[in-house]
Amino acid sequence: MRYGIVSDIHGNLEGLTAALTALGEIDVLICPGDIVGYGPDPNACCEIIRERNAICVLGNHDAVMVGELSLNWFNPVAAEALLWTREQITDENLSFLKELPLVHWNESFVLVHSSLSAPEEFDYITTAWDARPTFAEMGSCNLCIIGHTHIAEYYYQKVDGVWASRINMTPGGRIVLKEGVRYIVNSGSTGQPRDFDPRASAALYDSEAGTIDILRVEYPISLTQQKMRAAGLPEPLVQRLQYGT
Ligand code: ZN
Repeated sequence: MRYGIVSDIHGNLEGLTAALTALGEIDVLICPGDIVGYGPDPNACCEIIRERNAICVLGNHDAVMVGELSLNWFNPVAAEALLWTREQITDENLSFLKELPLVHWNESFVLVHSSLSAPEEFDYITTAWDARPTFAEMGSCNLCIIGHTHIAEYYYQKVDGVWASRINMTPGGRIVLKEGVRYIVNSGSTGQPRDFDPRASAALYDSEAGTIDILRVEYPISLTQQKMRAAGLPEPLVQRLQYGT
């Protein structure tokens, strides 16, 4: 199976469209959460994810839309964008977000936005130390796909080991999945990268070949920024897109 992964889309239609074009022919689309929030096109992004029957889990921004997380969780700028998004979102897209689970398990991988140890708390995995409780929850599953930090990276741990390591994947490149090793893979953010590379991030997981390719894709950032300004979204959110912060 060829799976495309688009995470943390955040209402960025241009970023999502460019990422899907770069992914090309895939069998199944995967979204590790945060379809909405920050960006100017929350409905169009939800509709693409729905039309493509993506395997999707609830992100923290999606959770606010459906009343499962308080706005107090967020900084004031993110909260302002969420209030704007709440005004825009259609009933159909809201019902779709309401149905999303926090965790999805299947025979090939487990999908969660933040971490397996406390998915409803939306804690961040930013170090190999933070990754260990999630590895401990994986059982016989050797691949956990996450989002949330907006950084393309992965963690790995020997199945019978305790220590975990982290590898940064900001420039893109290939992860070769080995036998006897567990992986937590973050494809980076499609709609608001924060690893100092403003290009949209996505990944192609080939389950037969045992490889995950991280792709970095140019998109018309200035068009997304124009839409954000026209919508009255906070200026710091507009500017961060061009720096990848
Ligand atoms: Zn996010």
